[in-house]
Amino acid sequence: MTATRTHHCPECEADREFYRAASMEVHIGTKVKWHCRECDYEFIRIDGDVDTATA
Ligand SMILES: [Zn+2]
Repeated sequence: MTATRTHHCPECEADREFYRAASMEVHIGTKVKWHCRECDYEFIRIDGDVDTATA
C-alpha cells in the first residue's frame, strides 16, 4: 500500500505528489483525503476493493 500518489493539482497547475492525509472506511470502499505537498490543495477519493494506485 502506498501513502503517496501523483495527481494533477489545479492549484499548482502541474502534476504533484500527494500524500494520504486521512482515510476512512465507508460502505463502498475507502474514502481517502489526498493533500498536495506543494500547496494546501486537497481532494477526496474513494478507492474500491482493488487498489490500483500503485504504479
Ligand atoms: Zn498543489
